[in-house]
Amino acid sequence: MPDKRDHASVIGAGTAGLIAARRLAELGVGVSVYEQKRLPGRPVHASGIVSRTGLQSLGVDYSGAVTNTLHGARIHAGKNSLSAYSKEAMAHVVDRERLNDVCHDEAVSAGAEVILERRIAGSGLASLSESSMIVGADGAVSSVARHFSMGSIPDYCVTYKADYEMSAENADVVDIFLNNGISKGLFGWVCPNSKDVIEVGVGLSHNHGNAKKAFDRLISLPSIANIVSGKRPVSEGASIIPMGLRGKIADRAHGILLVGDAAGQVKPSTGGGIVFGGNAALLAAEGIRKEIDGKDGIGWYEKEYRRRYFLDTWLHVLIRWAYSNMGPGGLESMLGLMEYVGVGSLLGRYGEMDMPSRIIGNSIRGLADAVYNAL
Ligand SMILES: Cc1cc2nc3c(=O)[nH]c(=O)nc-3n(C[C@H](O)[C@H](O)[C@H](O)COP(=O)(O)OP(=O)(O)OC[C@H]3O[C@@H](n4cnc5c(N)ncnc54)[C@H](O)[C@@H]3O)c2cc1C
Repeated sequence: MPDKRDHASVIGAGTAGLIAARRLAELGVGVSVYEQKRLPGRPVHASGIVSRTGLQSLGVDYSGAVTNTLHGARIHAGKNSLSAYSKEAMAHVVDRERLNDVCHDEAVSAGAEVILERRIAGSGLASLSESSMIVGADGAVSSVARHFSMGSIPDYCVTYKADYEMSAENADVVDIFLNNGISKGLFGWVCPNSKDVIEVGVGLSHNHGNAKKAFDRLISLPSIANIVSGKRPVSEGASIIPMGLRGKIADRAHGILLVGDAAGQVKPSTGGGIVFGGNAALLAAEGIRKEIDGKDGIGWYEKEYRRRYFLDTWLHVLIRWAYSNMGPGGLESMLGLMEYVGVGSLLGRYGEMDMPSRIIGNSIRGLADAVYNAL
């Protein structure tokens, strides 16, 4: 690793890149962010449901970006549903553009330089890597990953979503629709983004069909048609979600670290990437600081990310595998059984959207307390 690399270049000014830039600047590392678009993180074709605890873990002052607070979720399959509800706020819905603005302003205030309308790829990356460590935060179709041969992402989901101006009946609950005939590999959702905007969206494995066609089938389901039939969306769009970690997320020889969607740092059961990607960005910044201080910080970053998220990533993979591979009758019966045995209330009480291992641990502890108190 040449000594001249005491500077970091972040490629991509999405949430993960901007969080990495802020943390690098806070740690005293000179940092430049390159973003191909005119405005950082715009337009966004993604949703913004983020667990309250996950948002807090990012160290971002997100309060001005919150448009709604969710206390529960209802998961539907066929005629059955599983409901989880908590008195405590489970998650916030954030306006993604406002969240990116906050992350941008925090990075700049900390001392990062943000250069807009500058796409860096191919030979541009090769020359930048001679004078700087590179944080590839350039999204699911990462030029950095491709240029430095960082391996592939195991699976992608394609998505389509639309926003409708109307108020929700239950403004603090998100509805999830499991239906492998429409959305194999992910699900459909209806989310009250704010008091007067409802988002309807769908995602499915890229090799199981077209997202817009899946969306049209989803909104023709009676329970969703009741809400949106005859209404025109105020915005709509398609996107993709990487489902699973890339082969390699760090390369010390070239001074490369991938974060966020570029690295495939999403929860494989839902496609949510703000918390995993943002926390990885914080770790990557620490890794670069260690590297400048003469340690193997780049190798440390890859090992530490895998260590922290290994168990929960695999639990998310297992959850996705289970709901993606059940027939319609199986899914319906499973949800009915889960509701019957009280899984919904356990989720409401001990729910942790990001880390299923904590739900399991907390539930076992809760059950043990209940048994102890009953004796
Ligand atoms: C429909 C949908 C719904 C979602 N819902 C949620 C949710 O509810 N909760 C959640 O947590 N996550 C959700 N996600 C996932 C979440 O949006 C992503 O995980 C997150 O945006 C990843 O952030 P990022 O900064 O890694 O990448 P991005 O947000 O994709 O940012 C990458 C940036 O890099 C720039 N760029 C790319 N290439 C170059 C280049 N060569 N040079 C310069 N700049 C470049 C791009 O212009 C872009 O600004 C959803 C995703 C989708 C598609």
